[in-house]
Amino acid sequence: MMDNSPVSALKAQIDAAHRILLTSHIRPDGDAVGSLLGLGLALQDIGKEVNLVLEDGVPVIFRHLPGSEEIYKKPIGVYDLTIALDCSDISRVGNVLDEHGQADINIDHHPTNTYFGRLNFVDTKAVATAEIIVDLMSAFDIPLTKNIAASLLTGIIMDSLGFRTSNMTPKALRTAATLHETGVDLPGLYHKVLLQHSYEAIRYWGKGLSNIEREGRLIWTTLSLEDRREIGYPGRDDADLVNVLSSVEDIDICVILVEQSDGTVKVSWRAQPGFDVSGVAMQFDGGGHKPAAGATIPGHLDHVTRDVLEATRKLL
Ligand code: AMP
Ligand code: MN
Ligand code: MN
Repeated sequence: MMDNSPVSALKAQIDAAHRILLTSHIRPDGDAVGSLLGLGLALQDIGKEVNLVLEDGVPVIFRHLPGSEEIYKKPIGVYDLTIALDCSDISRVGNVLDEHGQADINIDHHPTNTYFGRLNFVDTKAVATAEIIVDLMSAFDIPLTKNIAASLLTGIIMDSLGFRTSNMTPKALRTAATLHETGVDLPGLYHKVLLQHSYEAIRYWGKGLSNIEREGRLIWTTLSLEDRREIGYPGRDDADLVNVLSSVEDIDICVILVEQSDGTVKVSWRAQPGFDVSGVAMQFDGGGHKPAAGATIPGHLDHVTRDVLEATRKLL
């Protein structure tokens, strides 16, 4: 739980603001979109004008969320307060805050957070930034509507992989229950964001699964641009294949490396409890949590794979 003084300071800043810019990270996940929409709709409900911005736009699987059509890729008009959500450092927002120069408020749950905001609400015990938004709404007496709850529950479900990550807490479950009580379709949200995959995504998994390599308790795989092109997979991500890798028995750490068209490689690490992959991600200018971290690394797929494996082996 956060102590009260920053909460009152945030309340004062929000009260004084007229138009608030809210943003979250590039390659937005359910917590990025969910926290943004949840807090955005809550601020609208108390009479604020908001500008919701995600540099990479809203992924298709979240476009059913009410308000998602009001998320833009660039800031519009003027604003007098900026809030970054679910970002461990300022570079995670992309170029959204370039004109403003900084984030006024930083609300996040990553242990690798750099405290880049003028005001920082970093609760590393929260399973998702969305959980912190529920706490803040309760502190500000803003009612939870069904639409707000759908977004925030999406954030909690997705970051906790359906209430099963090692950082799950009774409090997060209670928060999810409170959100569920508004009448949102929990099984439907769960199915949409965690279980359902496109036919192309599953065929793309096939490529990644056939490239799997193992060295003791470490496994990894790569997905090249060629793999993506052959299958016609439309995303730039791993289609959540990392969650399949992390289900393999007798493995402590798994890594997936996805080649990007801009000459970088998107790397995701997942680890069993007792391991901390956030440090190795930080060595490559990334970040995350002990059991789940990521980085975007410039270089050729083979070279990045070699360097990442070399650094990762040191953890085992
Ligand atoms: P991913 O592997 O992208 O699913 O991310 C796993 C965790 O690491 C999430 O908590 C992300 O927010 C975080 N993460 C991923 N990429 C980065 C990055 N480039 N910088 C900081 N944190 C990251
Ligand atoms: Mn996120
Ligand atoms: Mn998150």
